[in-house]
Amino acid sequence: MRIGVIGGGQLGQMLGIAARSLGHECLFLDPAEDPPARTIGPVVQAPFDDRVALAILAEKCDVVTYEFENVPVDALADTANLVAVHPPLDALRQAQDRLTEKQLFDRLDIPLPAYRRIDSAADLRAAADQIGLPLVIKTRRLGYDGKGQYVLRDLADIDTALEELGGSGLIAEQWVAFDYEVSAIGVRNAAGDSATYCLTQNDHAEGILRTSRAPVTDGLLTAKARGYMQRLLEDLDYVGVLALELFVVGDELLANEFAPRVHNSGHWTIEGARTSQFENHVLAVTGERPGSTANVGFAGMVNLIGQIPAAARGALPAQAVLHDYGKTARPGRKLGHITVTAETEDARDGLLDEIRQSVTDSTPPAGTGT
Ligand code: AMP
Repeated sequence: MRIGVIGGGQLGQMLGIAARSLGHECLFLDPAEDPPARTIGPVVQAPFDDRVALAILAEKCDVVTYEFENVPVDALADTANLVAVHPPLDALRQAQDRLTEKQLFDRLDIPLPAYRRIDSAADLRAAADQIGLPLVIKTRRLGYDGKGQYVLRDLADIDTALEELGGSGLIAEQWVAFDYEVSAIGVRNAAGDSATYCLTQNDHAEGILRTSRAPVTDGLLTAKARGYMQRLLEDLDYVGVLALELFVVGDELLANEFAPRVHNSGHWTIEGARTSQFENHVLAVTGERPGSTANVGFAGMVNLIGQIPAAARGALPAQAVLHDYGKTARPGRKLGHITVTAETEDARDGLLDEIRQSVTDSTPPAGTGT
């Protein structure tokens, strides 16, 4: 089949590699001149909402998918009249607005931090009164990697917070003193066959994912996450890979957000699972059954941000694999990642420490960009 992929970043690139290994080809749509996916297949260079470019994708492809969640839904709705678009637009629409996303979690009985819709200083004062401080204030739309967020610790800062975030179209949520963060990654096809990977533990700095480790071996948390994932996949009549980010507080999981796409915290599945998240996304959108999501030993992933140090290319341990997306270096930009796999948790953590010392500690602090 030919798969149209909206977005030619590293996620598109890795989807393209998986598609090729499964006998498919990809046609990408991306506004950049030189996107990472160019190494995998042809790229239609145009804005994501360019109707002509989307029509080309619809005409030339058997199915269209996307690799990031800020695709304009209206433009894609026209495409969906011409060709199958997976994951469903309704999932995309709900994920694009933090308010509808949280209302969805609520409706599906998926626990989440207390939240309020904020469109004024009065709303924010009421939220602080009802939920307490600190509050995390977030723009409802177009936030990523911790951007568009303000942690309100003092009522005196309400005006500053609102000024910084634009004054309306916000949500405020309870600040969660979590033990750690995890993500669940699930996959479903149109026939309803589904599978979920083991839970992944994620460490962020400056709002950007730095390290992932899998599996989280806690059985209770795993069972809860699988249940929440199943509810989401079924309610959304989902097709493709979906990532759900959660906070761990004791035995509880609180949902933070979901992404209707393959996810950075699932990159370890390329080496660390029987079927990668990219292969599973391709299998699902082409109407095949998901492959086994079983993990192969213990895996870890380190993002390479801002630069790919020489050490990442040279002196890596044998159990480590570098993925270089071929992007131009820029502060804060995700340029690649390294996956490690090991037979034990301790060995995996030792490898991650080694990589951190020899590779990522030499990376300058993050700035902006993706
Ligand atoms: P988000 O853009 O919602 O994924 O937030 C980026 C990061 O900010 C998360 O991965 C958390 O580390 C942190 N964060 C977001 N919301 C909260 C919250 N309510 N309480 C504590 N930390 C949060």
